[in-house]
Amino acid sequence: MEVIINKVKKSKISSVDFKNLGFCKYYSDHMFIAEYEEGEWKNFKITPFQDLKLSPACATLHYGQTIFEGLKAYKNNKDEILIFRAKKNAERFNKSAQRMCMPELPENIFTNSINELLRVDKNWVPKQDNSSLYIRPLMFAKDPYIGIRPADKYIYLIICGLAGGYYSEPVNVKIEEKFTRAIAGGVGYAKTAANYAAALYPAVKSQSEGYHQLIWTDGKKHEYVEESGTMNLFFVIDGKLLTPPLGDTVLDGVTRDSIISLCKNLNIDLEVRKISVEEIILSIKNGQLTEAFGAGTAATIAPIKMIGYDSKKYKISYGKNSISQKILSKLNKIKYGIDEDIFNWIHKIK
Ligand SMILES: *Cc1c(COP(=O)(O)O)cnc(C)c1O
Repeated sequence: MEVIINKVKKSKISSVDFKNLGFCKYYSDHMFIAEYEEGEWKNFKITPFQDLKLSPACATLHYGQTIFEGLKAYKNNKDEILIFRAKKNAERFNKSAQRMCMPELPENIFTNSINELLRVDKNWVPKQDNSSLYIRPLMFAKDPYIGIRPADKYIYLIICGLAGGYYSEPVNVKIEEKFTRAIAGGVGYAKTAANYAAALYPAVKSQSEGYHQLIWTDGKKHEYVEESGTMNLFFVIDGKLLTPPLGDTVLDGVTRDSIISLCKNLNIDLEVRKISVEEIILSIKNGQLTEAFGAGTAATIAPIKMIGYDSKKYKISYGKNSISQKILSKLNKIKYGIDEDIFNWIHKIK
């Protein structure tokens, strides 16, 4: 893969307030860009982070043929850059692409484009505790054409944003009883814009009631929980860790998958099965539900401190000796290269 590199004259990194990184408040100096034309990927470039020039008729702006990914780069104590499970993100990117009638991006292009960009922006992978560089690959239709059909031309991009070393504040979530994020046969399992745009209205409504996020339920009867905004869900009931199964309405989270793999290692009893809203509410009431949390790349693990359902608010405990903190600690030790990478999840950028 030949990449043309055009570097910035002066890095923006000196303007970064490293004490207040937030999440994607700062983008790194460069971006990666490639084009798909006549059935192949070409024109691989690294350029300064900059605005794009698009036709007002660009198909994506009208019909939303676009997909994205999210993963992170970490620095270990030798200042080496570690990327967590890029292969799994590449596979998911292609699953999303297939569902949206977009071209496949070969896994080696996905991984090499990240490696090349991070070699140029290596100073942007922060060193301080728990911070990282969030990597956002995306692909979208470029055709300047008003009409519904899969486009012929596509753009693949990667931008990177700094992610601070924040401890995820416990969240209030509401079990959604009316609106639907995804239905069987739909696009819920694809990381595509439509899912997030459709979720905004119910999410904003719940925020006005004091919630941070929603717990989405099945689109048929709102009987079973599925996932949260950009996180998969876990519950501890009777000491057992539970998570709903995947399917075409649930995003196959890398964090979820990693937690499932780690459970054996951490001696945590895990079951993947359907979990009804009724079971959750009953087991909160009789004290069997002791923890609930969301899992995703951005926050890693976000403990849930309150669940709202049927106009009632139920408190959930969280804290130091919880199963979620045990998992979070182990996951972070692997991501930052402190503990042995027993699952071969990490690749180093040389
Ligand atoms: C990205 C995402 C997740 C979490 O996936 P990770 O790979 O763990 O970051 C969960 N649900 C939705 C809807 C998402 O978009």
